[in-house]
Amino acid sequence: MSFQLPDLAYDYNALEPHIDARTMEIHHSKHHAAYTANFNKAVEGTPLEGKSAEEIFAGISAHPAAVRNNGGGFFNHNIFWSVIGPNGGGKPTGDLLEAINSAFGSFDEFKSQFSAAAATRFGSGWAWLVKQADGSLVVSSSPNQDNPLMDISDLKGTPLLTIDVWEHAYYLNYQNRRPDYIQAFWNVVNWEEVARRFK
Ligand code: MN
Repeated sequence: MSFQLPDLAYDYNALEPHIDARTMEIHHSKHHAAYTANFNKAVEGTPLEGKSAEEIFAGISAHPAAVRNNGGGFFNHNIFWSVIGPNGGGKPTGDLLEAINSAFGSFDEFKSQFSAAAATRFGSGWAWLVKQADGSLVVSSSPNQDNPLMDISDLKGTPLLTIDVWEHAYYLNYQNRRPDYIQAFWNVVNWEEVARRFK
């Protein structure tokens, strides 16, 4: 059983004008496809074959860099595609909104902290909204393709929301203007999916 590149639940042009179709096509069909293929190659014939990505991440410090980088690349993009979509934006409701208000004081303050984490992640990486083991919510960021499920992560927990801030995620449309891409990202967040992950 190998890892499979998931189909998107929407068309490549569905997130325009916030994320352009060409970026989506290359990001999914080239970058994510390559991480998926290379993750499979990295685990084939090793004791990791047949394990879930989550199981592998729990002991990632003991595994080769190819497993960490491509496994993270495979898994992080799966989350990313699911937490964005057409008809996104706005704000969460119910238990998730209450948890965000409790952790950050307000939804706007959460957005501000998450945006800052995404903007200030040096080089390539991801920003995260994470549910920790005690149920509390925190914002973090990770370098490269690392994620909060990995044993090497400073801050561990269940990823609820993420943004890819590798240049390949935005450069065609936004060039060096990462903050503009982050601002546009809020218009495509699929809060229903984030709430589902929170539960
Ligand atoms: Mn990416």
